[in-house]
Amino acid sequence: MITRTIGATFVCVVAVLASGAQAATLIHAGRVIDGVSDQVMTERTVVVDQGRITGIESGYRKPAAGDTVIDLRKSTLMPGLMDMHVHLTSEYSRTSELDRFKKDGPDVALDGVLYAARTLQAGFTTVRDLGDSFLASIALRNAINAGKVTGPRIFAAGKSIASTGGHADPTNGWADFLGGGNVGPVDGVVNGAEQGAQTVRQRYKEGSDLIKITATGGVLSIAKNGLNPQFTEDEIRTIVATARDYGFKVAAHAHGAEGMKRAVRAGVDSIEHGTFMDDETIALMKERGTCYVPTITAGRWVFDRSKEDGFFPALVRPKAAMIGPQIQGTFAKAYEAGVKIVFGTDTGVSAHGDNAREFVLMVEAGMPPLEAIKSATSVAAKFLEIDDRLGSVQVGKIADLVAVSGDPLADISAMRRVNFVMKDGTVHRQP
Ligand SMILES: [Zn+2]
Repeated sequence: MITRTIGATFVCVVAVLASGAQAATLIHAGRVIDGVSDQVMTERTVVVDQGRITGIESGYRKPAAGDTVIDLRKSTLMPGLMDMHVHLTSEYSRTSELDRFKKDGPDVALDGVLYAARTLQAGFTTVRDLGDSFLASIALRNAINAGKVTGPRIFAAGKSIASTGGHADPTNGWADFLGGGNVGPVDGVVNGAEQGAQTVRQRYKEGSDLIKITATGGVLSIAKNGLNPQFTEDEIRTIVATARDYGFKVAAHAHGAEGMKRAVRAGVDSIEHGTFMDDETIALMKERGTCYVPTITAGRWVFDRSKEDGFFPALVRPKAAMIGPQIQGTFAKAYEAGVKIVFGTDTGVSAHGDNAREFVLMVEAGMPPLEAIKSATSVAAKFLEIDDRLGSVQVGKIADLVAVSGDPLADISAMRRVNFVMKDGTVHRQP
């Protein structure tokens, strides 16, 4: 018996060694930005084997029999990009208001399959989905993890949490005869601390990875105020405390300063948008270590659309015109003040696959290109607590790798020209 076991183990070890020695992927990269250091490496071979980075060598290694070579000698190789604020199962359009009454869960989920593929093709291998309907982002995450469809690794919030009439109340604008106002914690609408705890537990039951609250009014909801606080501090405190019981982080959508401050004091992990962030909020966020996810792209996008007659519902248009153009200036101020910034776009407002526009807007507002890239790689990985395996080009890490043609440090718009995407060692896009 014992001999047989040892024999089987030996055969096993030989098989592993043999498979390890063959069929490596050699990526010949003209430049490598590893996501962590301030130095750019040139003319490197990044070796990928069984989904992991197993070597980073000077020069272009000649392939052995069975090796695959990927020629990126005219490109810049980076870690897979991470967007901390997307909505993969929707994309805003002129018809969005009516679509809510036309689309069932399967329609929304299938839209998500298309948008997830576009996101991955644009170089984003990891995202946080900050709000869906019909639990579609959770189904999408599971299908991607099971290899049934292609897309980024998803950290899903599931249904966003709001108070009655708040930014994420799904029945805003409904006529009374449609039963508006009758939704509760199961649908993410809560009033009072007790319901706050219940809705977090509901998200746990549904399979969320984190919690998203809408701490203030927002732009695209059918409601008048885009800035007002929409939770008491006590409600947010209970939501955060309950979230901690389940290992959830809490992301808070916020445009107005009062709601932002309540959320930061109550202990949320990130402020999303942060549009009218004042000096007091900035000081509070630095003191508490609260991260800022700017979403300049969404601000710019809604502002541009607000100039088109009939694009937005009447209640939305003035909010888009007022809030949209502020975010880039807020980003500049927060960056200057030293608030920790993690890359996020709110894509799903703007078009999926155009996430990299955010890099251009960040650099335009004063952040150096390398720092902007880090905010979407190693900084984001640390924020997600996955930096032990993702977010950098280093030996031992999971092979999530992307490349752009040219040099993004010389011209940040190169980030919008992704020509290579590898996730978990599998190539999804090739030059
Ligand atoms: Zn959002």
